[in-house]
Amino acid sequence: MKTATQSWIASANDASCDFPLQNLPYGVFRHRDETHIGIAIGDLILDLHACAESGLFSSLTVEARDACRADRLNPLMSLGPAAWTSLRHRVTALLADDSPEQSSIEPNLVPMREAVMQLPAHIGDYTDFYASIHHATRIGQLFRPESPLLPNYKHLPIGYHGRSSSIVVSGESIRRPSGQIKSNQAASPIFGPTHALDYELEVGIFVGPGNLLGHSIPIAEAEQHVFGLCLLNDWSARDIQSWEYQPLGPFLAKNFATTISPWIVTLEALAPYRAAAPARPDQDPAPLPYLSPPSTACHGMDITLEVYLSSSEMRQTGHEPVRMSRANMRDLYWTVPQLLAHHTCNGCNLRPGDLIGTGTISGPETGSEGCMLEMKSNPSPITLPTGEARTFLEDGDQVVFRAYAQSSGLPRIGFGECRGTIAS
Ligand code: MN
Repeated sequence: MKTATQSWIASANDASCDFPLQNLPYGVFRHRDETHIGIAIGDLILDLHACAESGLFSSLTVEARDACRADRLNPLMSLGPAAWTSLRHRVTALLADDSPEQSSIEPNLVPMREAVMQLPAHIGDYTDFYASIHHATRIGQLFRPESPLLPNYKHLPIGYHGRSSSIVVSGESIRRPSGQIKSNQAASPIFGPTHALDYELEVGIFVGPGNLLGHSIPIAEAEQHVFGLCLLNDWSARDIQSWEYQPLGPFLAKNFATTISPWIVTLEALAPYRAAAPARPDQDPAPLPYLSPPSTACHGMDITLEVYLSSSEMRQTGHEPVRMSRANMRDLYWTVPQLLAHHTCNGCNLRPGDLIGTGTISGPETGSEGCMLEMKSNPSPITLPTGEARTFLEDGDQVVFRAYAQSSGLPRIGFGECRGTIAS
């Protein structure tokens, strides 16, 4: 059997396109007053609702067809890997260059520029981890230079429960939060707008089938509970955070907004681009059995992540955005299966559509810091092409995350963008 690698949709075959036939990420879009589930292909969206209605999915189960008619992804997420694989095979066949059904598909394609992307799922719960040892070490050095990592870091993935109601989709503007701020010199706090607004470069993990309360997810089965990945910006007010965080962790410094990218890239799409999980240094403790995967061969995610910043003045004067960071998800100390196994080891239940953030993803070298706070100890301050200086985000600043996976002999697959502008 011939394996098609190109689509009859020309824009999907452009090497610079995030959405070739090998990707097929899921999202929810609004077009002509209707909200439908779609799959990105080139610069178009395949309307899954329309496909189900027009009989193109008659080979799928009733449950899968019903899930394609929903206006959010939770029903499809709940069906699990076998249903996702069947749907992916069908959509691949419809969009491949040897598809005999081009004329029936064409009416079900919507130009991306005419659609407004929505949150992809009802997010019942949102958890954020702290899985990058490079991020944790740099932040720790700012506060505890003598012992940057706390004693628990290498034994368990640190996390906190975030707030799902303030998660917004890429493109929504972010209001600068106010809160209690106390400088080291001041005797007491003041109330006012944050002067230390930061982004955090993260990957979001969307949960597929959940687990029952009181039952845990074994690490060997964890990936069967992952629907896919998106980009996530955990906006953070550092001055509010430093005063409020002890002893219970982040609260108002982070729950004012979290931005996610609208397209969810599935683990099946990412499979050919996987990498070995990072080897732990010999002196590090071995993970406990419930956190030890049966194999670390393809446990990691080789995904390149980038942060771009533009000020309002840069955009007005025609400057390109500045790249602030380039990091890779494979450098995380804790992998996706370890995060899920740990989250549920006490019987805590995950549900379809729950969102889990990895925590800020940073690499070991300068130029791979996943947030501005980490850059504070760099010798040269951040200067933009307009001459403007930055320590933290100013009003009008726009932050864009991008990500892609690549492997020789295969087209690059991308995540689209996660964009947010600080309201001015
Ligand atoms: Mn975070």
